[in-house]
Amino acid sequence: MADKTNKGDVLVFIEIEHGEISDVSLELICKARELAQTLDVKVTALMVGNDISQFTLNILSYGCNKLYTAEDKRLKFYETLPYTNIVSSVIEKTAPEIVLFGATPLGRDLAPRVASKIKTGLTADCTDLKIGNHEDKKLNRTYKDILYQIRPAFGGNIIATIIAPEHRPQMATVREGVMKLDKPIKNPSGEVIPIDVKLDEDDFVNSVIERTVSEKKVNLKAADIIVSGGAGVGSKDNFQLIHELAETLGGVVGASRAAVDSGFISHDHQVGQTGTTVRPKLYIACGISGAIQHREGMIESGKIIAINTDPDAPIFKIAHYGIVGDVNDVIPMMIKTYKTKN
Ligand SMILES: Cc1cc2nc3c(=O)[nH]c(=O)nc-3n(C[C@H](O)[C@H](O)[C@H](O)COP(=O)(O)OP(=O)(O)OC[C@H]3O[C@@H](n4cnc5c(N)ncnc54)[C@H](O)[C@@H]3O)c2cc1C
Repeated sequence: MADKTNKGDVLVFIEIEHGEISDVSLELICKARELAQTLDVKVTALMVGNDISQFTLNILSYGCNKLYTAEDKRLKFYETLPYTNIVSSVIEKTAPEIVLFGATPLGRDLAPRVASKIKTGLTADCTDLKIGNHEDKKLNRTYKDILYQIRPAFGGNIIATIIAPEHRPQMATVREGVMKLDKPIKNPSGEVIPIDVKLDEDDFVNSVIERTVSEKKVNLKAADIIVSGGAGVGSKDNFQLIHELAETLGGVVGASRAAVDSGFISHDHQVGQTGTTVRPKLYIACGISGAIQHREGMIESGKIIAINTDPDAPIFKIAHYGIVGDVNDVIPMMIKTYKTKN
């Protein structure tokens, strides 16, 4: 492990999902660049799989200085044991200061295994990462330039800053869409370093009999316009209004957790802490109160319009335009006005 006074790099685990680099991995490289700049260290990445050389240029173009690649036919699909062993051994050899994983199903399986194997901490589902100092008054000691791992805690009622002052690397998982994706660099100069993969039979004690992948029904992350409905919409039938407005504007349908829990729409559409984090150009919140867990998933939207009968609803505090009114009246008016003007 790295000496705590001798800083290592910021390492990002690159996830390949259905033959593509997962968006969260590229978002994490962008965040890692910011962290590495503050620490005056480099950004490194690690990609594991089979036939992965096709992805290297794309990864380097997001600004990572070194890309370790572990390639083997047997690594085509994710398996906990071999992936854990490879990632742990790269961490042990390269002694990074910080390691970041996507909080995807794969990342949520892999990161804790790695943390446990190399005996360090892990903060799951971070919503922000910063570098700062920590003064431990009891020990009369200041830890310099450590990773603030920021995430909601106690049901989203507080935002906690979690630190791992004594152990390296400092590890965190981050959900897709939380960190901003910068534009790729035109002529990347990073170095690709293939790793000699050493695996034995014990790494493959499980055999995958069949793989079934269910496609996502909605791509909230890619949408420029999202029309979201909440409990205030009232019923599944009434939720048709949300679909109509979304269709009229060329957007997609989002929802609050209360709307999902009430059976108005499926969980794929949920925006927020336990749903998808979105950054559309326009977000229209219809009958949504604006609880912290919902706001967290949409506060980075370019423009927010809120429609709510309660003038004191918290959503109005973050909305750029607020309409105090009943969704049953306001939405048909919006649809009619848009259709007559376009
Ligand atoms: C650990 C945890 C994770 C969570 N994750 C999420 C998450 O990912 N996403 C999420 O959304 N929530 C999440 N929640 C739940 C969150 O706390 C809120 O309960 C939820 O967001 C409320 O949804 P809502 O705004 O639709 O419903 P409500 O809070 O019930 O608000 C309904 C709103 O509709 C308005 N209204 C009523 N009738 C009308 C009408 N006819 N026209 C216009 N307005 C009307 C009301 O004034 C009210 O403001 C989470 C909670 C916890 C504890």
